[in-house]
Amino acid sequence: MVNKVAIAIIAAVIQIVVALVITLPVLYTDCNQLKKCKRSNAEIEQKMVSKVATALIAAFVLVVVALTITLPILYTDCSLLKKCKRSNAEILKTILDEVPLIDGHNDFPMLLRTAIQNKLSKVDLNKSLKDDPAFNKFVYNHVDIPRLRQGQVGAQFWATFIGCSRQYNDSLHEALEQIDVTKRMIEAYPEHFEFVTNAEGITKAHKRGKIASLIGVEGGHMIEESLAVLRMFYQLGVRYLTLTHNCDTPWARYHEISAPGSGRVKGLTRFGHKVIQEMNRLGMMVDLSHTDAQTMRDAMTVSDAPVIFSHSSVYSVCNHSRNVPDDVLEKLKHNEGIVMINFYSGFIKCDVNMTESPPSNNAVIADVVEHFNYVKNLIGVNYIGIGADYCGVGVLPEGLEDVSTYPKVLEALLNAGWSELEVRKVTGLNMLRVMRQVQKVSSDWQRKGLRPLENLIPLEDVPADFSCGSSEMTALDEIYKDATLTPTGKNIRRKGQWHLTDPAAEKDNET
Ligand SMILES: [Zn+2]
Repeated sequence: MVNKVAIAIIAAVIQIVVALVITLPVLYTDCNQLKKCKRSNAEIEQKMVSKVATALIAAFVLVVVALTITLPILYTDCSLLKKCKRSNAEILKTILDEVPLIDGHNDFPMLLRTAIQNKLSKVDLNKSLKDDPAFNKFVYNHVDIPRLRQGQVGAQFWATFIGCSRQYNDSLHEALEQIDVTKRMIEAYPEHFEFVTNAEGITKAHKRGKIASLIGVEGGHMIEESLAVLRMFYQLGVRYLTLTHNCDTPWARYHEISAPGSGRVKGLTRFGHKVIQEMNRLGMMVDLSHTDAQTMRDAMTVSDAPVIFSHSSVYSVCNHSRNVPDDVLEKLKHNEGIVMINFYSGFIKCDVNMTESPPSNNAVIADVVEHFNYVKNLIGVNYIGIGADYCGVGVLPEGLEDVSTYPKVLEALLNAGWSELEVRKVTGLNMLRVMRQVQKVSSDWQRKGLRPLENLIPLEDVPADFSCGSSEMTALDEIYKDATLTPTGKNIRRKGQWHLTDPAAEKDNET
């Protein structure tokens, strides 16, 4: 549209200049240049009147021509060469051709782990997995390449997810395996996937017809309280860390306080602040999905960069603790971050009856649109994206069963009266803007010479009983138990105790 306005203005200016070139000489010359100028005053006066009349008529005709050309360009949303009235489906096609559809969260790597133990040789993602015996026993079997293509996915954040049961155990080891399988998957299908780490990479991959593929780590427990691990994740290409999953870490509280082991921390601890600062310095996005509201507020107070909710919906529409409350959304506007709406029926519509199979009173697309509308009405359209949570949830609204269905949501927004530009923003422009801002904060900080943070977590911040995670002894634990001291002596794969007992650690943490 901006181009069309520019063209229209240039055309109008050219036409006015032409009109002036033709009419001004007529108005401001006193005689016909082809004839001798000496004439009687009456003759001159009569000649002048006819010239002025001719000039005015010429100018009027030119103005009419100019308006005829420029007004349709200014007041239609389509090319003059095409039929002007486009359907919402046609508008959507243009949007998806030009803007990468970005989804903030997909748990497909978890499915690769559970269904085929990360053995990519056992699957062909070019084929539908709907009837694949290894995959179709899982209710969250939502992904294969044909369905991603049908859904016109432009960029996907693939989640590295290891559950809280592995906290204080081997969550880092397993996280590395999930990063590995994600990268191998991307490399195995180069005609469809392209590994990228920034906004520019997304737009370039989209232009090449590839699905830009990024990695986010879902659960702060996987950094094992180590900023060094956080930095290594960044080097592996991880571009967001969800501060918690469904358990507290020793430095951040998760969304539900009633589960075992939770409630030790209130929001973010001082070490949690350091995690955020190091993420800002690195250029890794802070993801607040799964965290509790106080952690959300604390993180936005600390973070210089925009934060994201990679897969969360709206608390005021459905009162679930995984959803984002209004005051946090207001704060998100000031932070210039993004909430990427989760499609899980249980977060979209709180009265869905999940005890039945299939669930009764399930959500429909209009219920999802309600979440988008709510955020738009509360804080504006610039802070909304899509984080459907496919492969991470079992029940989805009718019509949104898998990754092939994204266009239905966008078309529903157009049908609900959203403008083309607004839908472009939700589709991908908002997330690209957030990613660029995060990159800018990082480069600003690094240009100022900010060094990697060397803070260590204080001993008293780490629970002695490890109750929010596994404390089971494993075979490996037995092998190494004499070689490694731990705070409890229970869990020998839990590294890092060297710094917990280092007297210098406390002093460092003051910085
Ligand atoms: Zn999740």
